[in-house]
Amino acid sequence: MNIRVLGSHGSDLLLKGPTGSKICRSVGFLVNDALMVDAGTLASGLTLDEQKRVKHILLSHLHLDHIKGLPPLVDNLSGLVDHQVVVASLSSVVDGLQKHVFNDMVFPNFFNLQGPRHSILRAQGLEAKKEVMLSGGISVTPVLVNHTVETVGFVIRDDSAAWIYSGDTHLTEEIWRVAARTSNLKGIFIEVSFPDSMMDIAIQSKHLTPSLLAQEFRKIGKPDLPLYVYHMKPTVREAIIQEIAQLEIERVTVLEEGQEIEL
Ligand SMILES: [Zn+2]
Ligand SMILES: [Zn+2]
Repeated sequence: MNIRVLGSHGSDLLLKGPTGSKICRSVGFLVNDALMVDAGTLASGLTLDEQKRVKHILLSHLHLDHIKGLPPLVDNLSGLVDHQVVVASLSSVVDGLQKHVFNDMVFPNFFNLQGPRHSILRAQGLEAKKEVMLSGGISVTPVLVNHTVETVGFVIRDDSAAWIYSGDTHLTEEIWRVAARTSNLKGIFIEVSFPDSMMDIAIQSKHLTPSLLAQEFRKIGKPDLPLYVYHMKPTVREAIIQEIAQLEIERVTVLEEGQEIEL
């Protein structure tokens, strides 16, 4: 499986450093050119031709940094494609998306357009722990995690590999138990949002810090599993990277926009 990092942060920011500037973008990962895992960054990271190939979008939860790439995508594709893009998540998420965003006030309801323009989006409700086959030979299983709103991580698998995506989460159990018994697991993506010095905020907003990441990663019992870290808040990114380097986790990568991973 090919995973392309469109956004690996918990917000957007143009960071200025000594050697130039770097754009931090909200979370969005493109799998095999056709499946998005979260949609914080989508259209701004892809050419129009690439956007036309997106067929399925998995959402971990309803927070803005995970969904805000959707309206620009439908704007760009409107009138240009015949297929519908399937937006899949828990019913509370796909319903909430239509109630709060695609509600004909914030944005037109592209799930239910009347008239000559067809509905570009189609909702697919998923159930926790129930595996669903998507196109392209990929299957996905949502697993509930521990965040301020109902949130799932995902087990994503094809014939040759599986990987796990944590979603936004604080301390949790089920998804690590699933990770421990997942066959052919080639990598795990776990969020880290704040440095340890901001533990209070991490607890309040139900996210992880580097020391909590280490604690959670140990629960899986696979110390040599490749670990990919994402969802850093851009303003504290450097502090997080320094703290992760002290953790002595064997195969840890802090994800960057533009990176590609083959699993
Ligand atoms: Zn988030
Ligand atoms: Zn969140």
